[in-house]
Amino acid sequence: MISYDEALQCVVESISPLKPRETSLNEASGLILAKPAKALWEMPRYDNSAMDGFAINEFPENIEAGLSIVGASYAGHPFAGQIRPGEAVRITTGAAMPVGAGAVVPIEDTIEKNDKVFLNETPKQGQHVRYAGEEYRAEEILVDPATRLKAGEIALLASAGVQQVCVYPRLRVAVISTGDELVKLGQTPGPGQIINSNLHFLRTRLFECGCTPIYLDIGADDQKTLGQLIDQAIDADLIITTGGVSVGEKDYVQATLQNRNFEKIFWKVAIKPGKPLLFGKLEAKPFFGLPGNPAATAATFELFVKPALKRLSGQVDVLPEKRMATLTHEVMGDGKRQAFLWCSLQWDKSEYRVTVSQRQGSGQNRCLASKNAMLAVPTHVNSLYSGDQVEVLLIEGS
Ligand code: AMP
Ligand code: MG
Repeated sequence: MISYDEALQCVVESISPLKPRETSLNEASGLILAKPAKALWEMPRYDNSAMDGFAINEFPENIEAGLSIVGASYAGHPFAGQIRPGEAVRITTGAAMPVGAGAVVPIEDTIEKNDKVFLNETPKQGQHVRYAGEEYRAEEILVDPATRLKAGEIALLASAGVQQVCVYPRLRVAVISTGDELVKLGQTPGPGQIINSNLHFLRTRLFECGCTPIYLDIGADDQKTLGQLIDQAIDADLIITTGGVSVGEKDYVQATLQNRNFEKIFWKVAIKPGKPLLFGKLEAKPFFGLPGNPAATAATFELFVKPALKRLSGQVDVLPEKRMATLTHEVMGDGKRQAFLWCSLQWDKSEYRVTVSQRQGSGQNRCLASKNAMLAVPTHVNSLYSGDQVEVLLIEGS
């Protein structure tokens, strides 16, 4: 059986990013930029005021006698005239500096009387002016390739007039749940039935990871229906099944794939939970057969599917972020397989502290709730103790 590290390497090496394409900026939220995005124009586009107040001439005269207020420049409504020495123009934040203006005096530093404004202090040349082009120049690269387009990047590009960007496409991920015992949320489970909770885990995580989940259906434990669902799912960018991948009498995922164009890359990894994980390529698309136990589905998603999604979507750093943390209590390992335990990681004054969920049954959902990390207990380690420095993997994007 291969180790976690070997299996992860197989996954990462066998997947390449999808082909980038031009997309409207509005559609690109959360996607990875494939080509540099450049400004269409300089910013600010014109000299403008950083404050509400008065714009004054660049060479003010007779300040003590007060400056005559000759007009106003409001944001979106520039002053048409010109400021001469001895004059001032009312101005609001973001409004264009009038011709001849050299500084802005904030309203708080002025006194207005009879169409004149008196200044409390002698202003400095250029104060409170945002000059054209001081933020960026036309044609300047604003966002580099491999950057995820989050709100800040999107707003920056919008300000620069960028309407189209070249990005890696949003991933469409098919999720097929297998199991005769599964019913949909909303139905009352009959004898021997349970709700298809894995679907809800995966659906939520896929949304959180910026993917579009598709074909969210339940396949019965027979090869015909399972085969039909798998055939439908083939136009997705990545396919996930849950359950039916172990050695049980009713585990039909592998048998169903055998009659299809499936290249098995590995089956079974020395981890707990998640040992029966199947990974391969179906019609050249990455295919993950996740074990059905809820904690195993979740762990194999975080450990293997998440890096695969990152790689497909054009990210460069695809391995999970890690932290060293102090363990707050004793924890048992598995001894034979590398154990991954759901845990809470918290910053406490000067260090991370990690607390492992007390309920770690692979058949349980309880251990997944309110967890932000997984503690990796190496193979052959039977126990870890309170105060030990341990390595934890962050559950990113959640
Ligand atoms: P399997 O991997 O099909 O042998 O299933 C292992 C265990 O996980 C069984 O107890 C199943 O009932 C349970 N299970 C399988 N699929 C799901 C699912 N989609 N949601 C919740 N539990 C599941
Ligand atoms: Mg099953």
